[in-house]
Amino acid sequence: MPRPRRSAGPRVSVLRIGHRAGRDPRLTTHVALTARAFGAERLYLHPGDAALAERIARVAATWGGSFAVEAVRDWKRLIREFDGVVVHLTMYGEPVARVAPKLRRATSVLLVVGGAKVPPDLYRLAAHNVAVGHQPHSEVAALAVILAKIRGIPGPGVWPGARAVLVPQAHGKKVVAIAEGAG
Ligand code: SAM
Repeated sequence: MPRPRRSAGPRVSVLRIGHRAGRDPRLTTHVALTARAFGAERLYLHPGDAALAERIARVAATWGGSFAVEAVRDWKRLIREFDGVVVHLTMYGEPVARVAPKLRRATSVLLVVGGAKVPPDLYRLAAHNVAVGHQPHSEVAALAVILAKIRGIPGPGVWPGARAVLVPQAHGKKVVAIAEGAG
């Protein structure tokens, strides 16, 4: 099984603010899984959640790659000091089709998604406020769509360090174990 074709586009980190540990573990887990699957390098999480970070580390240990979840104390500082383009995903922003070409040319992008309530400061701290459609939906959907637009969708293949790889099937499931050091 070949390595997946490297998606083009910028290096991407994701910042999720307003996480409620213990209240919405599934939603933030899906934010992390989506970020990882579509080629982001890390999820900054505010506030942190060690159990969630551990769950995602177990996924990465099986399926490969170096994606990690990092706790963030001061998310405003992270945004101010980020060396790249900061993009806040919000239904109130500019259409994604207008901003995506600029993001594809960037070296490094931080995508910021909110939770139930978004602090107003975020709208001015971000370089771009970007809408994925102009109706309310979900941080998971917004993230998947913008990552697909700026980095493409990774094809099948072995990720570095993976212990398993799946072989795409028209029907059914096929997963192949990878010998240590082969991934
Ligand atoms: N009511 C919240 C607010 O103050 O904006 C939004 C809550 S929404 C359930 C959670 C997150 O999903 C938002 O912070 C945003 O990042 C993302 N989101 C939802 N709809 C979106 C859209 N149409 N475009 C971009 N992002 C969206």
